[in-house]
Amino acid sequence: RVRVRIAPSPTGDPHVGTAYIGLFNYVFAKHNGGDFLLRIEDTDRTRFSKDSEQQIFDAMKWLGLNYDEGPDVGGDRGPYRQSERFEIYKEYAEKLVEKGEAYYCFCTPERLQKLRERQTAMKQAPGYDGHCRNLSKEEVEAKLAAGEPYTIRLKMPYEGETIVNDGLRGEIRFENSKIDDQVLLKSDGFPTYHLANIVDDHLMGITHVIRAEEWISSTPKHIQLYKAFGWDEPKWYHMPLLRNADKTKISKRKNPVSLNYYQEEGYLKEGILNFLALMGWSFGENKEIFTIEEMIENFSFDKISLGGPVFDLVKLGWVNNHHMRLKDLDELTKLAIPYFVKAGYYANENLSDDEFAKLRRIVEISREGAHTLKELPEISSIYFEDEFELPVVEEGMNKKARKSVEKLRNSLETEVGKKSIELFVEKINALNEEISEEEAKEILHGLQDELGEGPAAVLMPLRAVVTGKARGADLYTVIAIIGKERTLKRVQNTLE
Ligand code: ATP
Ligand code: GLU
Repeated sequence: RVRVRIAPSPTGDPHVGTAYIGLFNYVFAKHNGGDFLLRIEDTDRTRFSKDSEQQIFDAMKWLGLNYDEGPDVGGDRGPYRQSERFEIYKEYAEKLVEKGEAYYCFCTPERLQKLRERQTAMKQAPGYDGHCRNLSKEEVEAKLAAGEPYTIRLKMPYEGETIVNDGLRGEIRFENSKIDDQVLLKSDGFPTYHLANIVDDHLMGITHVIRAEEWISSTPKHIQLYKAFGWDEPKWYHMPLLRNADKTKISKRKNPVSLNYYQEEGYLKEGILNFLALMGWSFGENKEIFTIEEMIENFSFDKISLGGPVFDLVKLGWVNNHHMRLKDLDELTKLAIPYFVKAGYYANENLSDDEFAKLRRIVEISREGAHTLKELPEISSIYFEDEFELPVVEEGMNKKARKSVEKLRNSLETEVGKKSIELFVEKINALNEEISEEEAKEILHGLQDELGEGPAAVLMPLRAVVTGKARGADLYTVIAIIGKERTLKRVQNTLE
């Protein structure tokens, strides 16, 4: 049975890289009817934050990357938090010593520091010199009895090569002489990443390790650990790193890397997942917009490309816009409500049925041009802001914009324009507060017939007084959404 995992360290905001790697693990597991696990690698207590752990859980759930086993959902191979497994690591490190695959190292930090300095001075590669590798049993026992602090190190072979068989990259060879005798257990009894990671992957039955490219250089050490334990190694897949436009590894300074940012901006989980999928994988047939279900069905590793994918927010916006348009309208409206509240358009999130129905229509129109939920209120001001000034010609305006402003303003000065507004007010006045789009449409058409003029002459002045804008949503929709009273108020305000 396929079993895969992500193993994030809770050291800050949940990272977009965790979602990216999580997505591929999740999809691979689901494609194969296997299990997806979440393990918290919190052995580095200096960088640990409890809040960050919870945020990882929340972010994965928000994205729908639901794990079958994990610290907060349980499972029968737990605990799934490394800080709760320290005894296990110690036991396994000692097992390796017994097997002669690892050894106690009593070198003091001062000795190691001197060694490093000497190596630097002699332009040698840094690394442990094997000083304690061949201590006799008696020497070790005497030092342990004397209470000398120790670490446990892996006995790496000095010769030959370690071959990483990467499912995406083929064979990658590493010379063993260049790999240090890794510390497995630190002097404070804490395991290193290498030991904890391998012991856990083994005990948790992980069959495939799908992780970021940056871990490739650790993999030969991991393979040697598997050998030392006498365990089968999992299959390895190292995913290409997400990159900034300049091809460096994605970083805070050049791109937002916190998933919180993307959630707050109002990207949909469908959009994020689709975008992250495109970063490493192609669906084929030039299909760029797809759901995670479609990805699961069609997933295979041979459609992964290794070129450093550029994390491009413009592309993300494009993908997200597609998913906003595909999303069930009621659901999208519900997701959008907090953003409209934040924009000051509603007092709170409890909308009446009527308000909801109107917002639904607003969202339906505005989502065509929106990249995020946050942009929805930004491009919907026409429905909410009753007090506006007509635009004026400003310096530096391009010709097209200037023409459009002039057209809007001039339309108010023409005879037809004045008549159009007068008749419009009369007709709106005759209606009830609720106006349907059909009714509004009829009025606008009727005016054109009555005045014997085309839409430009009749409707532009009405756009001016009702919306203050030459362009944008259909006038009849705006009228239907804001109703009689606000329509008339807007006309009055603009003409004052
Ligand atoms: P640092 O800020 O120290 O460079 P980091 O950016 O690697 O750290 P982490 O919190 O260590 O951030 O990363 C979280 C997870 O995301 C890790 O599993 C890491 O492998 C993965 N990851 C980090 N950066 C990228 C990236 N550019 N592309 C893909 N995965 C990444
Ligand atoms: N704790 C590591 C991380 O932060 C795990 C790497 C791995 O998948 O082995 O991603």
